[in-house]
Amino acid sequence: MPSSNPLLWPRPPVTWGYGIAVLSVIAALIISRWPALHLQDAPVSLFLCAVILSAWFGGAGPGLLATALSAFAFYYYFLPPIYSLGAKPGEIPRFLVFTVSVLFVGSLSAAQRSAMESLRRARDDLKETVQELQRTNEALQAESRERKRAEEASRQAQADLAHVSRVTTMGELTASLAHEVNQPIGAAVTNANTCIRWLARDTPNVEEARAAAMRSAKDGMRAAEIVSRIRLLFKKGTPQREFVDINEVVREMIVLLRGEATRHNISVRTELAAELPPVLGDRVQLQQVLMNLMLNGMDATKDVDGTRELAIKSQRAENEQVVVTVSDTGVGLPAQQADQIFKAFFTTKPHGTGMGLSISRSIVESHGGRLWATDNSPRGASFHFALPTKAEAKE
Ligand code: ADP
Repeated sequence: MPSSNPLLWPRPPVTWGYGIAVLSVIAALIISRWPALHLQDAPVSLFLCAVILSAWFGGAGPGLLATALSAFAFYYYFLPPIYSLGAKPGEIPRFLVFTVSVLFVGSLSAAQRSAMESLRRARDDLKETVQELQRTNEALQAESRERKRAEEASRQAQADLAHVSRVTTMGELTASLAHEVNQPIGAAVTNANTCIRWLARDTPNVEEARAAAMRSAKDGMRAAEIVSRIRLLFKKGTPQREFVDINEVVREMIVLLRGEATRHNISVRTELAAELPPVLGDRVQLQQVLMNLMLNGMDATKDVDGTRELAIKSQRAENEQVVVTVSDTGVGLPAQQADQIFKAFFTTKPHGTGMGLSISRSIVESHGGRLWATDNSPRGASFHFALPTKAEAKE
C-alpha cells in the first residue's frame, strides 16, 4: 500500500473534519440545486458522496454531522412542500429511506477508513520492527567480526608465546644440541680421512674408500637433518594444520634430546604402536609439547638414585584417538600441588618459568585434545596427551 495513495492521506485535525462535513454538504446542495444541471430530482447521490467524504476524512463525528445536514437539506429543499420545515406526512417514508441509507453508507465509510488506518499502523509497526531487526542484525554481525578478530589475535598471541618458550628452551639446550650435531660431523670427518687413507695407499683400495666416503656422506646428511630440525623449532610462523605421524614426532624429539638424556645418565625407552592413524595438527607445536614433557621428565629424574628412565609410549585409544604417554622414574608430582602444575607460572624449580605445561596444555587443547598427569608406581610421574586422528575427523 503506497503512502502516496490519496485515500490514505493522514486524517486531518478534528475541526477540519467538521469543516469538510459542512462544506461538502453545502457543495452537494449547491450542485444539486444548480438550475443548469437539472439535478433537482436526483440529489441523493450527491448527499451520499458528501457523507462518504466526511466520514472518510473526518471519521464518525463529521460523518454524523454530514448525515444530519444532508437530512435537513433533503427535507427542506427537496421534499414537497419545499422550503418548509413543517410536517410532510406523505414524504416520511422517502425521508426515512434517505436518512437510513445515508447513515448506513456513512458508517461503512468510517469503518473502512478505520480498518485501513489500523492496517497502515500495522504496516508501519512491521516496518519499524524490520528496521529494528536489521539494526540488531548489523550489530550482531559487527560483534561477530570483532569476536573473530579477538580470537585471531588470541591465537596469534598464544603462538607467539609458544614460540618464545620454545626458543628459550632450545637456548638452554644449546650444549647438548651442539653435541648432537658435532657427533655426525666428527664421524663424517673420520670417515673422510679413512677414505683418503685408502686412496693414498700404493695400491688404492677403491672399494673401502667408496664405503668410507658413503659413510661420511651419510653422517653429513644426519648432521644436516638435525640442524634442519633445530631450525624448524626456532622458526616463527603461523600454526599449520597437516597430517602428522605422531611416532615420527617422538623419534625426531628423541634424536634432539638424546644428548641431554645421556648427560644425566637417563635411558630413553620407546614403545610405539605400529600403524597409528595420522593426527591433524601443527608438527612444530606437537614437537614442542613432547619436548616440554621429556625435558620435565629428565629434570625430575636427573637427581634420583636408582633407575633413571624415560619411557615414551604411543597407542591407539577409544574414539579413534591417539594417546602419547611420557613416563619417568623421577621425584613424582609435587605433593598436594598436583592440580596446580598446569597453571601458568607454577614451578617448583629454582630457575623454572612455570610456562611449559600451561603452554603444552593450550597447544593440545587447540588441537581438540587433552593433556593430563598421573603418579607413577612405585615412583615418578606420567604425562599423557590424547589427540583426535584423521579417522575421528572422518567420523
Ligand atoms: P617449569 O618446568 O618451568 O617448572 P612447567 O609448567 O613445565 O614449568 O612445570 C610446572 C611444574 O610441574 C614443575 O615445576 C614441576 O613441579 C611439575 N612437573 C612437571 N613435570 C613433572 C614431572 N615429570 N615430574 C614431577 N613434577 C613435574
